[in-house]
Amino acid sequence: MVGIFWCTCPKCSGEFMAQTADFRGTGNQMMCPFCSHWFTDDEAAKIVSHGERGATGGHL
Ligand SMILES: [Zn+2]
Repeated sequence: MVGIFWCTCPKCSGEFMAQTADFRGTGNQMMCPFCSHWFTDDEAAKIVSHGERGATGGHL
C-alpha cells in the first residue's frame, strides 16, 4: 500500500493528495494544484493520513 496523505493548502485551503514517502518529514515542497503555491508539510493548514479521513471529525 502506497503511503498517501491529504494536505490542505495554507493559501487557498484546497485539499489534495501527496505521497507520504516524498513529502512527510522530508522538507520537500508540494505544489498546490489549485493556486500553485509551494509549501512543506510543516506549512500545510492540515494534514490527514490516508484512511483517517472522516474517522476523526473535529481534529484540528
Ligand atoms: Zn492552494
